[in-house]
Amino acid sequence: MGKGQELYKKAKTLIPGGTMLLSKRPEMFLPDNWPSYYSKAKGCKVWDLDGKEYIDMSIMGIGTNTLGYGNDEVDEAVIKTIRNGNMSTFNCPEEVMLAEKLVELNPWADMVRFARSGGEANAIAIRIARAASGKDKVAICGYHGWHDWYLATNHNQVDDLSGHLLPGLNPEGVPKNLKNTVFPFHYNDIEELQQLISSQDIGVIKMEVVRNFGPENDFLKKVREISTKNNIVLVFDECTSGFRETYGGIYLKYGVEPDVAMFGKTIGNGYALTAVVGRREVMEAAQKTFISSTFWTERIGPTAALKTLEIMERVKSWETITDLGKKMQKGWRDLAERNGVTISISGIPALSTYSFAGENALKYKTYLTQEMLKNGILASTNFYACVEHNDEYFKMYFDVLDGIYKTIHGCEMGNQEINQLLDGPVCHSGFKRLN
Ligand code: PMP
Repeated sequence: MGKGQELYKKAKTLIPGGTMLLSKRPEMFLPDNWPSYYSKAKGCKVWDLDGKEYIDMSIMGIGTNTLGYGNDEVDEAVIKTIRNGNMSTFNCPEEVMLAEKLVELNPWADMVRFARSGGEANAIAIRIARAASGKDKVAICGYHGWHDWYLATNHNQVDDLSGHLLPGLNPEGVPKNLKNTVFPFHYNDIEELQQLISSQDIGVIKMEVVRNFGPENDFLKKVREISTKNNIVLVFDECTSGFRETYGGIYLKYGVEPDVAMFGKTIGNGYALTAVVGRREVMEAAQKTFISSTFWTERIGPTAALKTLEIMERVKSWETITDLGKKMQKGWRDLAERNGVTISISGIPALSTYSFAGENALKYKTYLTQEMLKNGILASTNFYACVEHNDEYFKMYFDVLDGIYKTIHGCEMGNQEINQLLDGPVCHSGFKRLN
């Protein structure tokens, strides 16, 4: 057992659930054999606690580092900030500069609030939007974090959120009297949303602009129209989609403007900074309610975001990562076809994902991660692109993947037995309690 697995065993006795983020649980990749912890990360490479080097062809820090890990320019700016003091009784000027920049990038918006996580930004946006609309009820589509307001959806009916990225989100500990305050609707189903608005007194619509598939039949335009007509505050959660297809929100691609948008992940290239951007008449409602936190005032986040925005604009990172993602999707499709393996691909190119078909799907996914790891590659059935990924890494990856798909085809044909090829337990597919 590597040092990482040893440490993870200890972690589970000290930290309930083992890690802070579900998606970084070793069980989500390769239970009992995932290196789990890193000693160093640079570009698109990661080193484990035993000093072994890997190419990260998986989730790249869950999509935070589109400019690669440890980007020199961002790090230099951060180091300068650290030398000048990250905290003081005064506020940091960078937050005003960053607010100005974000308003410039979102011309329909006038004001900005900052936080440090996507869940927090969502909670802020919901509080402001509810205060502005004067109504409690919210319609949602997508994943919006771990806070009470969102998880309350799963008090309505059993696992109402299962169709919105993560199945099995247990709302234990969320007050039951929040039941029927948040109502999910399905992407591209405008009738469902219309019915919801007719039957409930909805004050806020919050949605991801695109997750797995794009809008059909002017879906986003219709959502905008319904919102305007019914005096509903429309909030776009761009925490994950932002800066991956455009220089800003993916909403720019569809020509539909929200009343509030949240950004996160990419914006600080691995440093914590999230933003709630909105129209003045909505954002001013933040003054009617109390929204305040100590570490929203630290200086590293806005410093990193200012530098990251500058670099992204200069190198047009969204173009590079979209091209890389397209190339990855094509590679998956071609190799799967050639080897007779059935997969279904989804996601915007820069956040590409796929799944195997059939009852052995999770076993095949586990096998893939296991074999890739043996070849020095971190991989699962998704690929979050960064500007440091290149042809050399793609070639290494596809060479190994070819062999893996051949074996999977062999299993499907009954020539090989997948259970005998796995060195450990099968990976998890969603949220569940750890033993
Ligand atoms: N909104 C969206 C659209 C997300 O994808 C995520 C994270 N996956 C969040 C909110 C929550 O962000 P965080 O994990 O930083 O709290």
